[in-house]
This record gives sequence, C-alpha cells and structure tokens, in this order.
Amino acid sequence: MTMTNDAPRVIFEMEHWGCPFSRTDDGKIAQRPFGGAGYPRTCYGADKTGLYLLHTLYEQTVRLNTHYYEEWMVLQVAIDEKGICKGVVALNIPDGTIEMIGANAVIFGTGGAGRMYGNTTNAHVSTALGIAMPYWAGIPVKDMEFIQFHPTGLYRSNILMTEGCRGEGGYLINSEGERFMKRYVSEKVMELAPRDITSRSITTEIEQGRGINNAYVYLDLRHLGKEKILERLPGIREICLDFANIDPIVSPIPVNPSMHYTMGGIDTNYDGETVSPGFYAAGECACVSVHGGNRLGGNSLLDTIVFGRRCGAAAVKYVKNLPKTADEKTLNKANQKLEDRMALAVNGKGSENPYKIRDELQAVMPSKVGIFRTEKEMSEGLVKIRELKERYKQVRPIVKSRAFNMDRVWTMELAGNLDIAEIVAEGALRRQESRGAHSRRDFTKRDDPNWLKHTVVTYSPQGPQFSYSKVDISKYQPEERKY
Ligand SMILES: Cc1cc2nc3c(=O)[nH]c(=O)nc-3n(C[C@H](O)[C@H](O)[C@H](O)COP(=O)(O)OP(=O)(O)OC[C@H]3O[C@@H](n4cnc5c(N)ncnc54)[C@H](O)[C@@H]3O)c2cc1C
Repeated sequence: MTMTNDAPRVIFEMEHWGCPFSRTDDGKIAQRPFGGAGYPRTCYGADKTGLYLLHTLYEQTVRLNTHYYEEWMVLQVAIDEKGICKGVVALNIPDGTIEMIGANAVIFGTGGAGRMYGNTTNAHVSTALGIAMPYWAGIPVKDMEFIQFHPTGLYRSNILMTEGCRGEGGYLINSEGERFMKRYVSEKVMELAPRDITSRSITTEIEQGRGINNAYVYLDLRHLGKEKILERLPGIREICLDFANIDPIVSPIPVNPSMHYTMGGIDTNYDGETVSPGFYAAGECACVSVHGGNRLGGNSLLDTIVFGRRCGAAAVKYVKNLPKTADEKTLNKANQKLEDRMALAVNGKGSENPYKIRDELQAVMPSKVGIFRTEKEMSEGLVKIRELKERYKQVRPIVKSRAFNMDRVWTMELAGNLDIAEIVAEGALRRQESRGAHSRRDFTKRDDPNWLKHTVVTYSPQGPQFSYSKVDISKYQPEERKY
C-alpha cells in the first residue's frame, strides 16, 4: 500500500523536475502494459526509463550543490558497540588511500547482487558487496533466496531486452514457429505472464527440444513495424544491432532467461530504517518486502523513487539534533576491521587466482541455484560455494599497485559475492516449497502453512545464522496466482 499510495506523487514530482516520460496523444503521461499487471499501469520513458529518472535526480542534486565522491568505493560500515551507525570507511580508487568518513546517517543505495551469477543482465558494479557490508556489520539480510530471472536476455551477452518489447506486443516463438506461451498461461495473458512463469516456460521449451539450437527462443518484434520499433524501442534496436548484428525490424531476436533482480536484501522497514539507528538502505540492495517472491516489471524503479524518498526524509529527521562530531573510536575500529579484511586483497600470499574463483561462482549459481531448483543441485551448489570460500582465503592479488587498482576492488567484491551466494543457496535449500521465482522441482507447490515467512539471516563468524519472521499481510490475503 505504501508504494502504490506514494506512487502518483513521486511520478509527478519527477515529471515536474523534468523527467521526459513518454506521452499519450493528448499529452498525459503514457502507461504501458508490463507482465503480470492487470492493466497498462507502467509509466515509462521510451525504453530508457531508469536512465531518465537517474538523470533527473542527478540534475536536482547538482542544483542543490551535493558533493559527489567520484571513483570512491565504500568498503566498511562503522557501527558502534550500541549498534548505532557512525559512518563508513571508503577507498579512494584513483590514489588507493583509505579514508574514514564520519556520518550520523548513512544511506546505502548500492543496487542488486546480479554479478554472483554469470548470466546476468546487471551491470558489472552490481555485486553483492553492498549487501554484504552491512551484513558483516551485524545488520540482517532478508529473503535472499528470491532471485529473479528475466525471460528475455539477449542470447550470449544477456543484455536485457526490456519487457516493454512484449508490452508493445512482441511475441515469443519456439523452433516450431509457435507462440508457445499458450501452453502455459491463458490466451489473454500470453507473453505478458509474470517473469517467473515466462522464464520457466522458455526453459521448459528449451529442455523439451523446442528451443533454437537447444539454447534460446525468439523474441519477435517484426509485426510491430519499423515506425513503432523506432519510436518505442529505439534502444533495443540499437543494442541488437551493436551486440548481435541483428535488426529486429527484419529478424527475430534470440533470447534466453537471465538473472535480473535481487528480491531480497538488507532488511528495512518502509522508511529504509534497519536495526542499526542511522543506517538506512533503499532500492535494490534493500528488502522492504514489496516485491515478495517475484517482482513485477516496472516496480523496481518505482521502489527506488518511493523508498529512496522516504528513506531520505527519515534520515533528515534522524540527524536533525545530533551533534556533528565524528565518533573517532568507532571509525578507527571499523578501519581496523577493513584492514584485516582487505589484507588478502592487498597482500595475499596464496596461490588462488581471484578471477578463477569468480568465474567458478558465476558458473555454479545459474546451474545449481537457478530457475528450477532441486535439493540435490542446491546441496552441490552449496558445497561448491563453501569450497570457493575456503579457496578465497588463499587468494593472491594479481596487481599490487595502489593507484586505480581495480584488481583490489574486484577481489573485495568477490568476498561479498561469496558470502551472499552462500546465503542465497542455503536459504533456497531450506525453503521446501515453490514460491514466485523460487521454483523447486521437488516441492512444486506453495506451502503457506509452513513457509509464508521471511528468511532472515545474520552474520556470525561461524557462518550465516538463519531465522524466520512473520509476513506483514495488511490488506490482501494471499491467493493462488492464476494467469
Ligand atoms: C538493463 C536493466 C533494465 C531495467 N529496466 C527496468 C525497468 O524498465 N523498470 C524497472 O522498474 N526496473 C528496471 N530494472 C531494474 C532497476 O533498474 C534496478 O533495480 C534499479 O536501477 C536499482 O537501482 P538502485 O539505485 O537501487 O541501484 P543501481 O542503479 O544499481 O545503483 C547502485 C549504485 O551504487 C554504486 N555502488 C555499489 N556499491 C558501491 C560501493 N561499495 N561504494 C560506492 N558505490 C557503490 C554502484 O556503482 C551504482 O552506481 C532494470 C534493470 C536492468 C539491469
């Protein structure tokens, strides 16, 4: 309710700040159908909505003289012995120095954890480190086993072919030239089924031999015509031309499901608050819990602007009467913790190549904790992740210089990916049911009596500690999903 109540206001706010939303013929903000939605309700800007929102907000922060730390990387959250956040410790990437930054409030907006998976639509910066840092500092993470696979990643590169393609009327076609979604959902829904169902349908088509080259299906836009593709999906056409040498105006696009969104994250309430006063999170790194087990298309950008706004307001209120003095004791302790944790990435003397560990993790996640899951595969995945964690202790950095040492950054990110991947796999293994994107071949039904609960995980040096919490069902009782 909070998200949908706030939505119109934040959309109009963005629009008044200059966000170039697409328009209807009579000049109103246009809305398009997205998967799983009952009617066309997604406001958009051509096929670049996120980019437009980002630039709009960036302009506003420039207007307000916001200071940006360009090319800095936060590596540690500083939390005092009472559990209160006192700032962060960060790496100045260009010169390699580490600095403690005191702050009464810290807001993380570090994005999703896509790069645990090798087949992701996410940017290279979308690693699990942003979720791991608060986790290591004692802040729980929630529902990490819910990983969304987008049905239409461009074959091989996994670059996203937006759901807008199907929203505009694109078809999914198998090797027999058939619009196969009719086998899985009603003719009314077809390609606009939710992402989890569509991804499973594509995977089933491929598994049953109706994929093209046993590897992908086609996203066909040709019938939309040149004019519509150029007007509504220009970025998609450009990507297809640049990365697959395919013009969707004349050829269908080869696609397969790709890891896309992290439904779980840092456990927050509707104002981005966590168990640690002064530490907030918003956007994909947070788990407010509005997306359940399967986020609907368009809801992530809405989540970022609704809860980012609420989070900012809560932080402003929180810091109002606090003294502006840095807690040096807490910051020094955090700095020491970081130095200990960073020792491997700076000066590890073992024989393990961090990129080999990264590649093996990125291979095991899609194959063992992927679209369809079984106890056997997830157990194997967990064993492998734990083996990789052990091997990480023997890591040897390749580049030793200080300035612009991205090798160091990526090795630090790998530590976050490994710890959070373990939570994803163990959480998925424990959850003996199918719910949203968590689809088990050995427990095919949703099991509300036993599993209508959040997975909450806290850090301990012995390993992740799992517990479960109640789901807040304020207005609508859960029902079976029918499409
Ligand atoms: C290709 C693609 C298309 C999408 N299209 C849509 C769409 O049409 N509609 C929709 O609703 N959703 C869409 N999504 C999902 C949505 O874009 C994301 O969920 C959303 O952008 C997340 O925003 P965020 O601000 O939380 O994180 P991000 O946009 O990922 O930003 C996180 C930022 O934090 C920085 N960062 C991370 N760690 C650190 C650190 N340690 N120190 C300093 N900085 C750090 C990163 O560099 C990055 O700049 C799409 C996602 C993808 C990948």
